[in-house]
Amino acid sequence: MAFDPVTLRPGNIEFLARRARGEGLLIGGEWRKAEGAADFATLDPATGKEIGQIAAASPVDVDAAVEAARIALGRWKATVPVERARILWKVADLIEANIDDLAELETLDQGKPLFVGRWAEIPGAVNQFRFFAGQAMAIEGNSLESSINYQPAGRQMRTWTVREPVGVVAAIVPWNSPLVLTAMKLAPALAAGCTVVLKPAEDTSLTALRLAELMVEAGVPAGVLNVVTGLGGQTGATLAAHPHVDKIAFTGSTATGRAVLDAAKTNFKRVTLELGGKSPSIVFPDADMGITVPGVANAIFFNGGQVCIAGSRLYVHRSVHDQVVEGVAAYAKGLKIGHGLLPDTQMGPVVSARHAERVEGFLQRAKAEGATMLTGGERMGDAGTFITPTVVVDVKPDMEIVREEVFGPVLVVQSFEDEEEVIAAANASEYGLAASVWTESLSTAHRMSADIRAGTVWINCHAMYDASLAIGGVKQSGWGRDSGRQAMDNYLEWKTICACV
Ligand code: NAD
Repeated sequence: MAFDPVTLRPGNIEFLARRARGEGLLIGGEWRKAEGAADFATLDPATGKEIGQIAAASPVDVDAAVEAARIALGRWKATVPVERARILWKVADLIEANIDDLAELETLDQGKPLFVGRWAEIPGAVNQFRFFAGQAMAIEGNSLESSINYQPAGRQMRTWTVREPVGVVAAIVPWNSPLVLTAMKLAPALAAGCTVVLKPAEDTSLTALRLAELMVEAGVPAGVLNVVTGLGGQTGATLAAHPHVDKIAFTGSTATGRAVLDAAKTNFKRVTLELGGKSPSIVFPDADMGITVPGVANAIFFNGGQVCIAGSRLYVHRSVHDQVVEGVAAYAKGLKIGHGLLPDTQMGPVVSARHAERVEGFLQRAKAEGATMLTGGERMGDAGTFITPTVVVDVKPDMEIVREEVFGPVLVVQSFEDEEEVIAAANASEYGLAASVWTESLSTAHRMSADIRAGTVWINCHAMYDASLAIGGVKQSGWGRDSGRQAMDNYLEWKTICACV
């Protein structure tokens, strides 16, 4: 499982050399070192070896980044939409041109199998920039027939609304799918005419920094995008509380979402929150097992379960329970686990030693509560943070492993008798991010998609997303939507104009 970094693609060796020279933060169009604060190492989770040092932005750096974004705001929001669109499209072209470098860097930093970044997530990031390039040119207000009737004689009241950028955006993103989740913030914010200070996750800052380089190359003007890397409780918290930030676009855990919300109240920042999930996959007896068994297994084991919309709770109708569970367990046992850069790897490590310990803690407590690991549940290998794909049975609805987001390759299985029972079970969660329903009955599919409380319901598939489709949650899975036309609303205010003419 050893991996030799000298085999990296030349573009990434040069990129890491630029970081090593101190090009750590992007502020006002300049790459610079952090002021005062110590740098920290970013590790390859598959080997535990250091890849490079990441700058820890201090409050002075955060101040400078926010002020640069504020200075750039006036010109950027006045840029004609077609020019913003042209630049965003160019960003997409540059991501595509550098996709092999970016995929390698993402795997090295996050651990995911190369094919996940190369064929799913990074093309998804390209599509975000292309979709929102179009949206930059489709911003519209309304003209309204008001009933105001006390204008001076001879004059008429004309009323209309316009959309305006919300201002300086703090974009704070997690580590599980770093590049595409960053694109989901940057593309609509810039399309709307906002300027941004981006805070990548401390465990996976590398592709955000490479993306920022590409965005500068694409012509994003100085100060329109600023990047401050650093620890969440320090750099992230300083940014979230900054009085000159107008809006926080956050993706991360529900717990951090609460801290961000608290920080936002100082100046009533606008806030959107894409938070955690514990999404159900629900299998009916008439499901097509040929697609259902691999479908529900992939729903949890893709990217090692480190996916907000992972199908981490499996509900199977009693009549097909054993068939489905045996199939999923066999799928789990058959997954090839290894360094994400090895060509046949299907599942990589979890992102960090800290996260591996967290996942293990969930498994130990589940066992203590009486759950059985049908397969998996172990650390693997001498180096790195590998956890074997785990199928947990003998669980009860009130157990922690059923209720809480593990964010690892851990599936909990329960059975059900009828629709009413499974709807109640699926909805008995603090989260409401997504769900999938597996059935050949159109009527069942319609009833289930209406009754499940979630931001997205998939039928006979899971985790299908696209730049055109709004994604986000209800309940404690968050506020607002990323992607789709709806995401533009995150970054635009309404202004009403009344003219007596
Ligand atoms: P996290 O909440 O620990 O961190 C997310 C980001 O917030 C990181 O950049 C971190 O540095 C920063 N941060 C931490 N503390 C902060 C603070 N006090 N103030 C400001 N910023 C702070 O989340 P994570 O562990 O990186 O990511 C996993 C979580 O993200 C899971 O819960 C997952 O479900 C969620 N997620 C949600 C979506 C979605 O679309 N709903 C998508 C991906 C991930």
